[in-house]
Amino acid sequence: MAQLKACKECNYLTEENECPLCGGEVAREWQGYLVIIDHEHSTLAKKMGIKANGKFALKVRG
Ligand SMILES: [Zn+2]
Repeated sequence: MAQLKACKECNYLTEENECPLCGGEVAREWQGYLVIIDHEHSTLAKKMGIKANGKFALKVRG
């Protein structure tokens, strides 16, 4: 988990140096995360504007 980085644009958590979802810049400093397994039927995903399944940071710095 320590090496995961969060996308500054869509909050997606990844080990890559850029977001595989949107190509956005990633930050090492983030707090908390949620796992979206069915974004089409998740009200939380809709609320956060998440359009994919995966792990997403709740707060991203930068
Ligand atoms: Zn992204």
